[in-house]
Amino acid sequence: MADSHCSQSKEQHAGQDRFATRLIHFGNEICQHTGASSVPIMQATTFHHEDIYHPPKHDYSRSGNPTREALEQYITVLEGGTRGFAFSSGMAAISASFMLFSAGDHVIVTEDVYGGTYRLLTSILSRFQLEVTFVDMTDLEQVKAALRPNTKGVYIETPSNPTLKVTDIRAVAAWARDNGLISLLDNTFMTPYHQRPLELGVDIVIHSATKFLGGHSDVLAGLVVTKDDELGAQVKMLQNGLGTVLGVQDCWLLMRGMKTLGARMSHSEVSAKRLANWLQAREDIVKVYYPGLEDHPGRDIQESQSLGYGAVVSFDVGSGERAKQVLNHVRLPLVAVSLGAVESILSYPAMMSHAAMPASVRQERGITDGLLRFSVGLEHIEDLLADLDQALQG
Ligand SMILES: *Cc1c(COP(=O)(O)O)cnc(C)c1O
Repeated sequence: MADSHCSQSKEQHAGQDRFATRLIHFGNEICQHTGASSVPIMQATTFHHEDIYHPPKHDYSRSGNPTREALEQYITVLEGGTRGFAFSSGMAAISASFMLFSAGDHVIVTEDVYGGTYRLLTSILSRFQLEVTFVDMTDLEQVKAALRPNTKGVYIETPSNPTLKVTDIRAVAAWARDNGLISLLDNTFMTPYHQRPLELGVDIVIHSATKFLGGHSDVLAGLVVTKDDELGAQVKMLQNGLGTVLGVQDCWLLMRGMKTLGARMSHSEVSAKRLANWLQAREDIVKVYYPGLEDHPGRDIQESQSLGYGAVVSFDVGSGERAKQVLNHVRLPLVAVSLGAVESILSYPAMMSHAAMPASVRQERGITDGLLRFSVGLEHIEDLLADLDQALQG
């Protein structure tokens, strides 16, 4: 088992195929030793040195494991990067990425960043003297104004959560490059099916693979892909040094989920568009947030940098009381945190993901007591609409 599972010729070929084909033929889809139809789960921690002068390719599974390597190569092919890394969760991937910076460095971060990332920066990394400025990244002037002599990075999340604000990825990445900063982007909401940030100039793309990539609400995982080898070597050192790697069983399950990413995303996106339009046509809905809607302020930018609008729709039902009524009356969606699964998931940001945020800040950001976030799954959309209709009517 000393040599790699992936055949070089297959790997090279993978880059030329269209995305839907790459999702299935990513280079490691079969076992090169047996022809088995999936990558073996290499449930081993250490590797025998047959000849002490020629160590095996992998020596210890924290540093490298063939099953994890197959997944890492898979996401690298999908994002069009140089090197990929699998972590035990999205937060583990994000934490490792921020470890690229040192005490005294400054990073510019999108203000409506994922709650766990906000907590990492303000409660943990702040103790290690990493300085952060949160800005509205849809406004490039605000990003530029945040630059300091010690600024080393820019961290983007687009569309943002839960109000789906769109950042101009090309513009921010180009500005970061001009100023010698590392640009990082959390691509969880779009996935490489819709949006490939490395192609738009970003240096590092990060995923909570727990969401759309895994797609079944059953695997917690994080992924990182770097644009170049130099950053790749740094992330590799961090992954090994921090030890927050993804276990091999979960690597295998994640690959299994990822193979259907295209089929799932395209189905869910069609349904999400229908849901957004259906909600917008209703008089009893205060506001609908979806980048595919005509009146979404970021729609043009979204279309210039992404191949779609995603499967998450947020909407304001007017009051906290009404939101709770809907949550308690829906029959089909899971009422839960998280998103990006085969089943629809209805979240209540004010009491779930953004509960820790002061009410005044929440209001300012549009995260009102009446805001709900619908992650559209694979159910029949007419059933989802009928269900939501009865819940809205109480
Ligand atoms: C869920 C999520 C994360 C965190 O990922 P975990 O796998 O839960 O650790 C990070 N970013 C975004 C946008 C998320 O939705």
